[in-house]
Amino acid sequence: MKLIVQKFGGTSVGSVERIRHVAKIIEREARQGFQLVVVVSAMGHTTDKLLSLAGRISVQPSPREMDMLLTTGEQVTCALLCMALHQLGIEAVSLTGWQAGIITDHHHGDAKIIKMNKAPILRHLEQGKVVVVAGFQGQTEDGEITTLGRGGSDITGVALAAVLSAERCDIYTDVKGVYTADPRVVPLARQMKEIDYNEMIVLAQLGAQVVHERAVQWAKKYHVPVCVKSSFDPVDQQSEGTWIRQIRHQEGHNRPVVHGLTHKILSDHQAKLSLVGDGIGHDSNVRMQVMKTLKHHQIEVEEDERGIFFQSYILAAEQVEHALQCLHQAFHLDEILQVNNDLMIKN
Ligand code: ADP
Ligand code: ASP
Ligand code: MG
Repeated sequence: MKLIVQKFGGTSVGSVERIRHVAKIIEREARQGFQLVVVVSAMGHTTDKLLSLAGRISVQPSPREMDMLLTTGEQVTCALLCMALHQLGIEAVSLTGWQAGIITDHHHGDAKIIKMNKAPILRHLEQGKVVVVAGFQGQTEDGEITTLGRGGSDITGVALAAVLSAERCDIYTDVKGVYTADPRVVPLARQMKEIDYNEMIVLAQLGAQVVHERAVQWAKKYHVPVCVKSSFDPVDQQSEGTWIRQIRHQEGHNRPVVHGLTHKILSDHQAKLSLVGDGIGHDSNVRMQVMKTLKHHQIEVEEDERGIFFQSYILAAEQVEHALQCLHQAFHLDEILQVNNDLMIKN
């Protein structure tokens, strides 16, 4: 029987209604005959609220106690989602990260998964249950509770998909997929049909939080196809989402093309804006176009790092949204079309 891992982020499980909706998405897949492992985040802003609660008690809380506190958020969602599945007549069991066999290093607050014991999950799957796992958490070999860093439920999802040799990992979130820029900042951003692992890793490293960078690294290493999609679509009208996988570019089409823009706020005053695309790092045409466009709009920038897949610039934080919109238009990112597995620019 084929296995799928589904991960639902905080907004997707932000209320009782949303948890009921997620249960229906899971039910649909389960009734199609898939084995399912579901990874969930804490509801809505729970993690932020727990962080601020700790901040009111101590300016420097113990990292161990922080992990003890933060892991409770995901456990609440896990249990509630299982109850919602039971209501639909689906057999389901919730597991904490440690019950699910996720072993990490000792780095409280930013732990790395070092080992996984898949036996507990397999046992429940064999009994025909949907297994719901609390994201973003694990335990050390000597039994200490750890968290994987903010946004870490994506890592749990893809790492489980890798270890369990799942068909794919679906990352359900509050947008329809990966876009050419953050759609909340650039309203004309276009959803991509697919994006290569390497480009997605760089987009995530440079600010696009839609999927955690380390999750994509797991996906690339273990060849897990990842599909980013919206949990807000009606259950029977699920849109296709964006595939993150290895993309072989067609021969003869090796002109470097900017595929996406992203940004990071560095301080109250400074931001970093990056252009991402295979081979653009040392492309002087891209650099000239950036400089020309931003000069035209009276936006001052300084060149920052470059790599094979990106060029970054530093600019005033208050100008970054405007700069993103100008560059999005200048590089015709609103016109990218998907043709024969390759990204082409519309004439
Ligand atoms: P979740 O709670 O489901 O993990 P996140 O808030 O971590 O969701 O990630 C989803 C958000 O990522 C979107 O709401 C969107 O604003 C932001 N985002 C940033 N860059 C991109 C991008 N290139 N494509 C899609 N979403 C992006
Ligand atoms: N709840 C954690 C956070 O808010 C982990 C996650 O959502 O992936 O960062
Ligand atoms: Mg996230």
